[in-house]
Amino acid sequence: MVKKNGLLLVVSGPSGAGKGTICKELLKKNDQIKLSVSATTRKPRTGEVDGVNYFFIEKDKFTQMIGNSEFLEYAQIYDNFYGTPKAAIMECLEKGQDVILEIEMQGAKQIKEVCPEGVFIFVLPPSLEELKNRIVGRGTETVEEIDKRFSCAFEEINRIVDYDYFVVNDDLEKSVKEIESIISSEKNKVTRYKNNIIDKFKEEL
Ligand code: 5GP
Repeated sequence: MVKKNGLLLVVSGPSGAGKGTICKELLKKNDQIKLSVSATTRKPRTGEVDGVNYFFIEKDKFTQMIGNSEFLEYAQIYDNFYGTPKAAIMECLEKGQDVILEIEMQGAKQIKEVCPEGVFIFVLPPSLEELKNRIVGRGTETVEEIDKRFSCAFEEINRIVDYDYFVVNDDLEKSVKEIESIISSEKNKVTRYKNNIIDKFKEEL
């Protein structure tokens, strides 16, 4: 067998595009994929669990983690900080496990600089109208937050040019299947594994 490394999958998209739901479903169906749990200074929403949805930490601790270079990337979004802890991801990738990061565009850009071999996927809503309905329908944000998130959406969509793939989330099952097929194509890319392929066959000579 050709040894395949884990893939670093980065999923972004405007708030309300449904990237969280897609990632959740993808993880349910593919137990070789691990979710990276981010740290944030945002307060937990109802139902969110520390260590599962996020590591909810205070600003002082976040700043200390930045100082210790514990993040692969971090960004300030709206009024809070979010960051991807480095150690857990590196451990998974080394073991050959795929890791999925559900992060916004500033963070994705930083990851692309340090991990250009990552797979960058952008989730689009079917329309801006649908996006607004979803943010309002979720009922987790204040009116002010909803307006702030909605007004950023078009600006965010403009940054799709930094991504490798896009998925239009008009149907959850279809979106998950599309990401699964992106993953399997990426896993068969010669450029990713050429040395492993050659070494495997060399061993048999
Ligand atoms: P929310 O507050 O709705 O959970 O997340 C707000 C935004 O932060 C979302 O776009 C989410 O993808 C992004 N986000 C979550 N974790 C991280 C992270 O570790 N780094 C960055 N850059 N963005 C994150």
